[in-house]
Amino acid sequence: MKELALSLGAYPAYVYDLPGLADHIEAIRAALGTTELFYAAKANPDAEILRTLAPHVDGIEVSSGGELRHVRETLPDKPLAFGGPGKTPEELRLARRTAGRIHVESPAELSRLAALGPADVLLRANLPLDTPNAALAMSGPFGMDEDALNECARLLEDNPHLTLRGVHAHLASGLDAPTMLHLAHRIAEWSLPWLKAHGMDDPELNVGGGMAVDYTSPETRFDWRSYGTGLSRIPARVRIEPGRAMTAYHGWYVTDVLDVKTTRGETYAILRGGTHHLRTPVAKGHDQPFEVLTATGPESPATLVGQLCTPKDVFARDVLVPPLSPGDVIAFSMAGAYAWNISHHDFLMHPKPTFHYLRRPAR
Ligand SMILES: *Cc1c(COP(=O)(O)O)cnc(C)c1O
Repeated sequence: MKELALSLGAYPAYVYDLPGLADHIEAIRAALGTTELFYAAKANPDAEILRTLAPHVDGIEVSSGGELRHVRETLPDKPLAFGGPGKTPEELRLARRTAGRIHVESPAELSRLAALGPADVLLRANLPLDTPNAALAMSGPFGMDEDALNECARLLEDNPHLTLRGVHAHLASGLDAPTMLHLAHRIAEWSLPWLKAHGMDDPELNVGGGMAVDYTSPETRFDWRSYGTGLSRIPARVRIEPGRAMTAYHGWYVTDVLDVKTTRGETYAILRGGTHHLRTPVAKGHDQPFEVLTATGPESPATLVGQLCTPKDVFARDVLVPPLSPGDVIAFSMAGAYAWNISHHDFLMHPKPTFHYLRRPAR
């Protein structure tokens, strides 16, 4: 990665480690056993990333008509699941034709879908389960409570051309394996008897994504093996759809220093580009992990900022860096998920980063 990043000469750039990503996903796949693995495309829908993941996943979860068309074009044969609140009539029609599973968010949505014709559905449940320590609790507008799920069951009876396949739940993000596993078992305890009561003998249970990624500890990984082992005890066809924990680790945003200054005792390194290319540290409120690829020497504190005319344009605050000067190259790591694709890159009209891919040498 370092060699490729330094060879570029022009910044900012995104660099993706495709061999590293392939190995990571292959290890997740192996650790999960019989649990089905879908990738949540919204974490990073880059076509090269999708093609690298594809051989190791059972399918892709998409959350908009745009994602659906893009993934279908990139991976014509991969099974798709279509979710997301607020589906337009056009999206429902498209999903019915192309996605093997549609995750239904409300009774009204189920009625609209029923009017279009046959479809295979999972009902998205919003169960009253505690999600302590979650980075995000996905309650509020997402999914349905027990009353709405029961209303869906009645609608399904009246519309036998709709096939109920199971329950979908994505209740929180940023949880470790024991907490996620506990949650998955609580979801199963409610869902499986409910599905059985509605005549389902071979239920599917999609327990979502949200596996923790610790940006303060880039070496730490979610415990996929214990999660997979625990999930295998659930008597259903269990599926998960992680995003962040699959692709976060294998992207770098690489840029160079434009200016260094000390103002009222604070040292700032001003870098080419900014958080309009890498929104993650602002969105998550953290210091983005980084490596200085060029300078060496005794470290002292500095704040790494971008070129935007806002004090919020901070990659990392008061971090230790070697002596920096213009032209030094810095790589922000863990920029492979919710990074470029969530960034407001038209703000201030700076040039966009270029994209580069580390590949396995041909043998
Ligand atoms: C965002 C999302 C995911 C993926 O979440 P990660 O935190 O990236 O693992 C999975 N399922 C649904 C329904 C989502 O909205």
